Amino acid sequence: MATKKRLTKLKCKDCGRVNYYSNKPKALKEEKLSLKKFCRWCKKHIEHKEKKK
Ligand SMILES: [Zn+2]
Repeated sequence: MATKKRLTKLKCKDCGRVNYYSNKPKALKEEKLSLKKFCRWCKKHIEHKEKKK
């Protein structure tokens, strides 16, 4: 049986590029994921927000 992964795109708040992918736990289904990550386009750490498919 294959494991279904919930791959979530994380989009830079500044430039809007998708820089990261995250496996979102099922428990967080209703919540919007938001992580502070490094954006190589903005060359700084910035908030990355979850993007819907
Ligand atoms: Zn950026």
